[in-house]
Amino acid sequence: MAVKYIPEPFRIKMVETIKMLTREERIKKIKEANYNLFNLRGADVYIDLLTDSGTNAMSDKQWAGIMRGDEAYAGASSYYKLLEAGKDIFHYGYIQPVHQGRAAEKVLFPLVLSEGKFAISNMFFDTTRAHVILSGARPIDCVIEAAKHPFKRCKFKGNMDIEKLEKIILEKGPENIGIVVMTITNNSAGGQPVSMENIKKTSEICKKYNIIFDIDAARYAENAYFIKRDEEGYQDKSIKEIVQEVFSYADMFTMSAKKDTIVNMGGLIGVKDGNSPLILKIKAACISFEGFFTYGGLSGRDLEALAIGLYEGLDEDYLKYRNGQMEYLASRLDDAGIAYQAPIGGHGPFIDAKAMFPQIPYNEFPGQVLAIELYIEAGIRSCDIGSYMLGNDPDTGKQLHADFEFTRLAIPRRVYTQSHFDIMADAIIAVRDRADKIKRGYKITWEPPILRHFQASLEPIEK
Ligand SMILES: *Cc1c(COP(=O)(O)O)cnc(C)c1O
Repeated sequence: MAVKYIPEPFRIKMVETIKMLTREERIKKIKEANYNLFNLRGADVYIDLLTDSGTNAMSDKQWAGIMRGDEAYAGASSYYKLLEAGKDIFHYGYIQPVHQGRAAEKVLFPLVLSEGKFAISNMFFDTTRAHVILSGARPIDCVIEAAKHPFKRCKFKGNMDIEKLEKIILEKGPENIGIVVMTITNNSAGGQPVSMENIKKTSEICKKYNIIFDIDAARYAENAYFIKRDEEGYQDKSIKEIVQEVFSYADMFTMSAKKDTIVNMGGLIGVKDGNSPLILKIKAACISFEGFFTYGGLSGRDLEALAIGLYEGLDEDYLKYRNGQMEYLASRLDDAGIAYQAPIGGHGPFIDAKAMFPQIPYNEFPGQVLAIELYIEAGIRSCDIGSYMLGNDPDTGKQLHADFEFTRLAIPRRVYTQSHFDIMADAIIAVRDRADKIKRGYKITWEPPILRHFQASLEPIEK
C-alpha cells in the first residue's frame, strides 16, 4: 500500500502551462535530439526531472526580495544580507557568492590541487570530478560498500568508508592529498545521506593528517533532515542546529545554491576561519572568473533571493513535505517490485536500470535506455547516472565501468503535485512491463573529451 502523500505546506499563486506531445511526436523528438535528453527542448517535455538544480519554485517572499535587490557593483546591501544569513546559519567567517556550484569548484580547486595531487570524496558529483581533473589532480571515490548495492537498505548509505579513507591517505602520502570532499547528501550514490558521526570521523582523520576538509553542500538541508529523522540524539534538535554542527567539523564548503537553497541560480564558497590566507586567493580568483567578490557573478536580486532561500530551505514543514514526496513515490515502486537505490534518497528515486535491463551491458548504457523509454512513455525527462555519465578514464581513454547503472528522476522543489507523482510511478511500471522486449542499448557516435553526457550524440545499436 502506498504511504500517504504529505500535503503541500503552501498554496499555488502562479501557474505555468505544460503540454504532453503524442507518443509519435516524442519518438521523433528524441531521435532528433540524438537520443540525448539534454538536447530536448523544455517545451517538448511534460514532467521535467532532468535535474533538481535551479528548477525550484521560489516563494512569494523570494519574489518580493527580487524587487528589493540592490544592484550596486560593489558592496550591495543584498550582498551584506547574504553574508549575514551565511554567517548566522553556518557560523563561518567568510562567505563568497558565486554564480553556481561548479564556479565554486573552479575558483577553489586550483588553489589547493595540482598535478600529482589527489582529492578524495565519499563520491564526487560529475562537475566536481571534472574540476578535480581540470586542476591536474585525480579524484578518488571512497563511499561505503553498502552504497554499491541498491537492494541493501541501510541508514546513511552515503557515508565515507573511514578505514579506506585512511588507507588511501597513507598509500598516496598525506602531503599528496589536496582536499577531502564530503558530498551531502551523496548525489551520485542516490541522494543518500551522510551521518553526523561519519562527518565527525572524517573530520578527525583530516585533522590528523593536516588535510583540508571541504563539504560539497548542495543538499545540506535534506541531509540535516535525515540526521534528525534517523540518527540517535538529534530528534530534539532544530534543523539549523544540526546544520551548524555539521559545518563545524569542516574547514570550508562549496555549494550549489540551486538545490536546497531553492533559487534558480547561485552558489557559495564558505571558509570557517575568517582569517584564513585562502580568502584573499578566493577573492582574487573570483574577480578573474566570476566578478567582483561582493556579487560573484550574480545580480543583486539573485543575492537577495539566495539570502531568503537559505532560511526557507531549513523549514521543517517544508522538509517533511519534500521527503514525503520521495516516500510516496518509493512506496509505489515498492508495491510494483521495482528496484531503486533503497531506501530512497533526498531528491528523487535512482532507478536500478541494471536490474530492469539485465540483458543490456554497461557499455550500452542501461540508465540511458530507461531515461529514453520514460520520455517515450510519458514525456518525462530524467537522466543517466551510470557508465554513460561517468565517461572515459582520463589517462587511458577507455570507457569506465560504473558501480551503478541508475536512471535518476530528480524532483524539483515545490513544483509538482501528487498526480504528477502518480504519472511518474505509472510510467516507470509501464516501461518495466515491456523491458524484456528491449534487447540492445545505445552507442556513442560523438562525444566531447570531458562531461560528455551533456552533449554526446547516441544511436540505438539495434534499429
Ligand atoms: C549540482 C551539484 C554541483 C554543481 O553545481 P552547479 O550549480 O550545477 O554548478 C556540485 N556538487 C553537487 C553534489 C551537486 O549536486
